[in-house]
Amino acid sequence: MFKPMELRRLLIASIKFHRNAHKPLLGPLASQCSLRYMSCLQYTHTPSGSTSAKLDNHGKSLIVQANGEDSSYHSTWLRHNCQCPSCLAPSGQKTIDLSEITPSITLKSVALIDGRLNLFWSSGHHGYIQIDYLQTRRNLQQNADLSTPKTAIDLPVMSATGLTNDREKLWRWLYLLNEYGVCLLTNMGEVQEECKKLAETMYNVQDTVYGETFHVEAQEDFVNIAYSNQTLTFHMDLIYYESPPGLQILHCLRFDDCVEGGESVMLDMFPVVEELREKWPKHFKTLSRVPATFQKIHYEREKPVEMVSYCPHIQLDRYGKVVRMSWSPPFEGPLDVPKEDVIPYYEAYHCLAQMLDKSKLKLSHRLKPGEAMTFNNRRILHSRKHFTLNGGQRHLQGAYVNIDHFKSTYEVLCKQLGKTEVPIRRVFNVNSS
Ligand SMILES: [Zn+2]
Repeated sequence: MFKPMELRRLLIASIKFHRNAHKPLLGPLASQCSLRYMSCLQYTHTPSGSTSAKLDNHGKSLIVQANGEDSSYHSTWLRHNCQCPSCLAPSGQKTIDLSEITPSITLKSVALIDGRLNLFWSSGHHGYIQIDYLQTRRNLQQNADLSTPKTAIDLPVMSATGLTNDREKLWRWLYLLNEYGVCLLTNMGEVQEECKKLAETMYNVQDTVYGETFHVEAQEDFVNIAYSNQTLTFHMDLIYYESPPGLQILHCLRFDDCVEGGESVMLDMFPVVEELREKWPKHFKTLSRVPATFQKIHYEREKPVEMVSYCPHIQLDRYGKVVRMSWSPPFEGPLDVPKEDVIPYYEAYHCLAQMLDKSKLKLSHRLKPGEAMTFNNRRILHSRKHFTLNGGQRHLQGAYVNIDHFKSTYEVLCKQLGKTEVPIRRVFNVNSS
């Protein structure tokens, strides 16, 4: 097993090698050794324009030559991805017979006709795969984006006027959230439920124990210190959920001039943990390995809650990139880990907490009525300064959006509007960009 950092280095090295050497990148699951057999094989060669395909390694793999480059695909991988009507429903669901997915299945013949590879396997199955499909898979591997997302120096701002009806504007908002993780919307109006309408541009709101939407106002008997006038330190919301909220929308309905304090402060965790990785790799490794405890146990409320979950503060993808963070000191429970992990954990925890506290990347903003702070709850920390009402009011209404719904809406809009140049950025479960 490779450890995450080793795997990351290996993958970066591998990608650099392919880019620099202009060597063909092997296709999905292809093995290096399959190429050794190329010269001594008898295969079917089916040219079509500048693309051709041939069997390799006694039918165990297929070589596709396109634009002067070779890609190799295992026959089992190809069988699993057959696009014929008996293997793939129009809805995109696989209906393939799983007994055919064996490592020993081979290809008997291949024919490339009109951009489609007609394939005949040793099991007797005749099927096909579009050549474009293979090209897309190949590009995903070859063009893995290892760059760091942009960090906002100033708060990105855009007007919400017409946003819910205009796909270009909706794309622009999601683009800013994708790149910077945070965006201040203006011209939202001061009417309740606008945050819900905004969330519904991405299917629907994410319901939680606080309801579909929630009101942040100073109350005497608060169920959450957010509903008081106290300082809220840097945190993410509802990390004790198995699937915590992805995006958060905080719409300011009222913030009287006489209210002192209460500014919102945002901080992008990604560059901070990258600094941690560089300066204290041991601590970075500990925080991406040792599970912290997150919990909400509160019986003195209308509907009692008892939720506990475990996950490391830093979560990485297969390339070792940070894809999501879990940071919520007010909702941390007792660390339940082997004794030998306790001190390394607290050393690393203390180090990161100090870095967050001293970070120069904090963005402070006093919300005005009609503005909404929107942000990725798995990347951007939010906090609030203590406030004194002085007879006035401060009232925000909030809603959450599931991260998958954000991702899906952004991907769909990018495709529909032809905005292919901006990949989805380090949102959990995205491994290739
Ligand atoms: Zn098929």
